[in-house]
Amino acid sequence: MRPYKTARILVVVKTYPNPSRTYGETVCCAGVDLARGEWVRLYPVTFRRLDDARFAKYQEIECLTAAPRNDSRPESRHVNNDSIRLIGPPMAAGRKGWARRMAMLPVPIRSLEAVQDAQSAHGTSIGMLRPRRIERLVIEKAKPWGPKELAAISQQRLDLSSPTSRELRDLDQIPWDFSYRFTCDDPRCTGHELRILDWEIGASYRKWSRTDPGRWEEMIREKYERELPARDLHLVVGNLAKRRHTFLIIGLVYPPRVQVDGVNVQGTLDLMGEQRTVAAGGIGLEAEKADALAVDHGKDALELFPDEG
Ligand SMILES: [Zn+2]
Repeated sequence: MRPYKTARILVVVKTYPNPSRTYGETVCCAGVDLARGEWVRLYPVTFRRLDDARFAKYQEIECLTAAPRNDSRPESRHVNNDSIRLIGPPMAAGRKGWARRMAMLPVPIRSLEAVQDAQSAHGTSIGMLRPRRIERLVIEKAKPWGPKELAAISQQRLDLSSPTSRELRDLDQIPWDFSYRFTCDDPRCTGHELRILDWEIGASYRKWSRTDPGRWEEMIREKYERELPARDLHLVVGNLAKRRHTFLIIGLVYPPRVQVDGVNVQGTLDLMGEQRTVAAGGIGLEAEKADALAVDHGKDALELFPDEG
C-alpha cells in the first residue's frame, strides 16, 4: 500500500474531463496544499462520479493523497477519490472574496520563461504567471478523438452501474481547441500560444453553442479577449507528463483589477464585474458549478498525467 496522508487542499484548477484508458474519464485538478502553501496536482479525479463530493473551484477539500508511483513531478499527488470530503462552501468571489482567495495562492512567477527555468532547475511543473498582454484567443478545429479515446469512453459505459449511467452522459468532444496568444513581462519573451484546458471555457462553449448557435464565438471572444484580460488575469500553467518542457494553461485566475499605477479604477471594475457577466451571458464566471456535466476532449499528446496500467 502507498503511504496515504490526509491533506487539506484549496482547489483552484479544474480542466475538462478527458477520456482515460484506466479511469474512464478524469479531470486534472490542481490547488494549494494549505499546510505547505504550495501547488499540488491531484489525480486521478473521476469528477462526475464523485456525487456529494463534487467540489467547486475555490472550495477547500480534505482527502488522502500519496506520492504517485509513475510520476516524479514534485507537485503530483495520487488521490483516493472515496476519501474526498468538502470543507465548507466555496470561497466567495467579489472584491473582498478575491483578495482572500489570492492571499492563499502561491506568489505568481514572473513569466513563462521563468516557469521553464524553474522546470529545468527543480522540476517545477505548475506555476502561475501574469501575462503582460493577451494578444488574442485562437480558436481552431479540434482533432477528432481517436480509437483509444473512444474505447476508453465505451469501457466506462460498460463499467457504470445503472443508476450512475443514467446520470452520467457520455463524454462529448468539444469540436474546438482554444488557446491564448500572449506575451510575458520578461526581456527574453518572444510570445507564446498555449492551449487553454480550463473547464470554464468548455462550459462556456457548450452553453452558448446551444443557446446562441450563431453567436457563440462572439460571446466567447467577448469574455476571453475582453472581460477577463480587463481583470487582473493570471494564467496557471502545468506541463505534460511526458513532455515536461511543454506547458499548457490549466486554469484562469481573474481577480478584479484594484489599482493601475496608483489610480483606482473603480469605474472600470463596475463595468467588468461578475454581475454584468452573469447578466449578459446567462453563465457565470463560476460556470463549472452550473454545468457540472460539461465535458471536453483529450488527446494522447496532451496527457497531463500518466495513465496507469
Ligand atoms: Zn514569455
